[in-house]
Amino acid sequence: MRIILLGKPGGGKGTQAKMLTERLGIPQISTGDILREAVKHQTPLGIEAKKFMDAGLLVPDCLIKDLIKERLSQEDTKDGFIFDGFPRNLAQARDLEQISGDLGFSIDKVVYIDVPTEKIVRRLSGRRTCSCGAVYHVESNPPEEQGVCDACGGTLYQRDDDKEDVIKARIEQYEKQTKPLIDHYDEKGILVTIDGDQPIDDVFSEIMKKIGA
Ligand code: ADP
Ligand code: ADP
Ligand code: ZN
Repeated sequence: MRIILLGKPGGGKGTQAKMLTERLGIPQISTGDILREAVKHQTPLGIEAKKFMDAGLLVPDCLIKDLIKERLSQEDTKDGFIFDGFPRNLAQARDLEQISGDLGFSIDKVVYIDVPTEKIVRRLSGRRTCSCGAVYHVESNPPEEQGVCDACGGTLYQRDDDKEDVIKARIEQYEKQTKPLIDHYDEKGILVTIDGDQPIDDVFSEIMKKIGA
């Protein structure tokens, strides 16, 4: 199965992607995680992307297109995948249509996780991240031991872009660039809408039900 997770920053895409990966046995492809790794290792992509990420802006589409092509050339994506954070605008959706045409696959479902904007700042400012990709929340989803990742024992950190001034810019980018994708995929008849403002396990059950998995 090939799935796109769509929704505001902090809407729960990463959290649900991890759970879906385990249940369905297909990889999560998080462009945000891939970019953060590139920044950490100061690759040419990372050096270029950092400026945009620090400002809460989208990284240029051409860089993302190359990154996606490279990721989809890897063997583990052959039987399906979960896109988390891609596509982020209509140009990227069109890039994906071109890539999927070339490779001969199609997207089965676009899962739109709907969370009211007023909940987003709290979600993002309380988020704690591990370099292994695991995400926690200081209130709604704390790790067993404060500051330590349950999955790998790593030290949790607060992302620089999860601070209040950058959060504002990211929400603005979402409204302008990403939101139009909801109609785009609805028109294609592959959109399912999920109430993201409920406990994590309930969001997951609703997704499983609506994608028919
Ligand atoms: P996204 O990948 O869409 O930015 P995340 O999955 O990283 O979102 O979630 C953002 C924050 O909200 C994290 O701290 C996460 O633990 C928390 N969170 C995720 N889903 C829920 C939920 N259903 N209820 C409350 N908090 C949640
Ligand atoms: P969140 O989980 O809060 O939605 P992400 O980890 O997906 O955030 O993205 C963090 C940052 O990485 C974005 O603000 C943006 O700068 C960059 N980014 C991630 N995915 C993309 C993408 N598909 N296109 C452009 N920029 C992206
Ligand atoms: Zn970890």
